[in-house]
Amino acid sequence: MSNSPSRLNSSSISPDLDVVKKSKGPVVTVLDEFYKVGPGPSSSHTIGPMRITYDFYQRCTQLPADQLKEVTGLKVHLFGSLSATGKGHGTDRAALAGLLGKEPATVDPLFLDEIRETPDQSFPLRLGSQTFNLSRADIIYDSAAGTFPHPNTMTCKLMGGDKAIYELEYYSPGGGFYEWKGYTPPKKGQPRYPYGTMKELRHHAEERNLSIAQVISANELAVSGRTEEQINAFLDKIAAAMLATVKAGLAVKEDILPGPIKLHSKAATVWQRAQEAQYEADRAVALLSACALAGSEENARGHLVITAPTAGSAGVMPAIVYALTQTKRALTPEKIRQGLLGAAAVGYLCKHNATLSGAEGGCQAEIGVASAMSAAFIASALDASPQVTENAAESALEHHLGMTCDPVGGYVQVPCIERCAFGAVKAWTAYMIATNEIASRHRVDLDTTIKTMAETGRDMSRKYKETSEAGLAANLVLC
Ligand code: SF4
Repeated sequence: MSNSPSRLNSSSISPDLDVVKKSKGPVVTVLDEFYKVGPGPSSSHTIGPMRITYDFYQRCTQLPADQLKEVTGLKVHLFGSLSATGKGHGTDRAALAGLLGKEPATVDPLFLDEIRETPDQSFPLRLGSQTFNLSRADIIYDSAAGTFPHPNTMTCKLMGGDKAIYELEYYSPGGGFYEWKGYTPPKKGQPRYPYGTMKELRHHAEERNLSIAQVISANELAVSGRTEEQINAFLDKIAAAMLATVKAGLAVKEDILPGPIKLHSKAATVWQRAQEAQYEADRAVALLSACALAGSEENARGHLVITAPTAGSAGVMPAIVYALTQTKRALTPEKIRQGLLGAAAVGYLCKHNATLSGAEGGCQAEIGVASAMSAAFIASALDASPQVTENAAESALEHHLGMTCDPVGGYVQVPCIERCAFGAVKAWTAYMIATNEIASRHRVDLDTTIKTMAETGRDMSRKYKETSEAGLAANLVLC
């Protein structure tokens, strides 16, 4: 689901707007803006709102003791798209968990399950000297239609009786990002190797005999101001979260995923049966698919996932990371960091020059980008040249061009779960072709394919961009 700066649809995008904007300046996205851990199934409707309420909870804990003496409760109002589609996404559950001081990246998924399964349950919260109860009723689905500062707007209020003692308006623009009224972006350093296209990025790498991962790492140091140790620790945390989501998904024997589709999970079954496959190639494809199903089913359960680049595509990269670290190949942590940096480069470029949102660009922008990132992950982790890394990412993205977003019933399950498996397999195929072809003869460059994705997304009928009004969503009958 959405990872976009705004939920634009085709009718709200000016026909004059060149989606591939040349005047944006260099990429300055940093790793912790891009890879985020939080509860699925949507980066904008669950991860973002939970990060928001957790932020508000933390702000409340910093208020003067005198102010906190009057506190009787907390309330959250959801507006716009958060109100319109938040119920199906479990926005209230995630928002309540954040208000209760649960950190999105570390919350126990069983706690989120408990909130879902016992919707009327109250949970005590202590702020200052006061203890009060909170429940899902404190998360209010307010106006869905109207004029809001952002399509995903919410207000958080610290209540003293009927009055708000303290309140703040927030926005969840996608990708797990959040902002608030009066927000000013943090100051960033200048990238050491400025680039806005893959051509520029590859030029930096080839001129200095660096890998794509090394260029991204140098920029990360310069832009974020963090140390190498801090960056490595962050990457290790993301890799561990990816492994954990696959392991958790494979460990669920078989359940029925939340929502009206009544979809049976199947990652564990596919994983188990694949072990008995007679031929090595059959086994490899089936095992990789099972890993991707596992991550995506965890997303559908509302458990912890990693935006790479979105929650909807949450099964793709974790499957690749799992396959490269937990199998005979058993790559070292350093190689995995290289992979994550190379994948980030591709994700940054797609975000910078096109979109990462199904609502703006269709599924090519979610699973397509996840597959391209995954192909770059494999190439970077296995020390491929910058040209091979680009070619692998390009092929993976090229063969998702035009893919629509039509989640059945508005749930990130059909086609999303199996689509993650196809995204992972295509990533591997793209790498296998790229590493075995004559790299310099690859005819299509990544910048052209990203531009094509942007233009295809812009021209795609609005019905096929996360509205559930067409495609499978319109044709699959739910009994
Ligand atoms: S169809 Fe693709 S873009 Fe749409 S919700 Fe599913 S994974 Fe996301």
